[in-house]
Amino acid sequence: MQIEPIMCQGLSFRYGDHEVLSDISFTVNRGDYVGLVGPNGSGKSTLIRIILGLLRPLTGRVMVFGADPSERKLRDRLGYLPQKMASFNPHFPSSVREIVSLGLISGRRFPKSLGRDDHIAIDKALDLMNISGISRSLIGDLSGGQQQRVFLARALVNGPELLVLDEPTTALDPETRQNFFTLLAELNRTGKVTVVLVTHDIGSIGKYASRLLYIDKSVVFYGGFDEFCLSGDMGKFFGESSQHLICHRHE
Ligand code: ADP
Repeated sequence: MQIEPIMCQGLSFRYGDHEVLSDISFTVNRGDYVGLVGPNGSGKSTLIRIILGLLRPLTGRVMVFGADPSERKLRDRLGYLPQKMASFNPHFPSSVREIVSLGLISGRRFPKSLGRDDHIAIDKALDLMNISGISRSLIGDLSGGQQQRVFLARALVNGPELLVLDEPTTALDPETRQNFFTLLAELNRTGKVTVVLVTHDIGSIGKYASRLLYIDKSVVFYGGFDEFCLSGDMGKFFGESSQHLICHRHE
């Protein structure tokens, strides 16, 4: 039986009296690369927090690989890259390698030490992100784009099947952001990693992602970009010229 990486059914959520998500239903299948887009305050981060098991929905059901998102056993199957590393102090003298190794250690209860297989996994993640050459550099000395690669390596080091990224490119210049989207597309295609990427860059994501999930408290659109391109409703919603800039299905 195929168990989907994410299944949401009739999900709603409120902070106090403020309804933030209403009747959200969608399924992310294995191998999808989903761009999650919506205006500021449309509930994207809240939805991600529910998928990660950090918040519980008020109504509806969310399953991650067929399990409740709060289940501990999901940790190794899921990689998460937050918007900003809240606990990250750029002046703290950590090396690239140390930061990547935290992706293995932080989820562990005991022992919190690294074995031979761990070092192999770290080398692989560094290699994959093309940062082996700077593994001894201090994180604070790197550019924004390089730092982003380090954090992506950290999210990937335990070989997750699902990668969730919450607008990780806000601080990056457009070119570095495009490189980052391309990198994710490669991981998705060659590494078979299912990707959910929150982004405000609706103009670019159609070049890279396979599906668009556009929310504004409820689901406005969920589907592939071909379908988006042909949708009369989306033409009315975004205006036809924006619709076809977003779909990236034309020269
Ligand atoms: P997005 O990620 O799309 O910008 P969020 O999920 O962060 O949207 O926020 C959705 C709405 O919920 C916004 O109106 C925001 O102000 C509100 N909100 C977010 N977090 C909290 C919180 N911890 N307490 C109360 N309201 C919140």
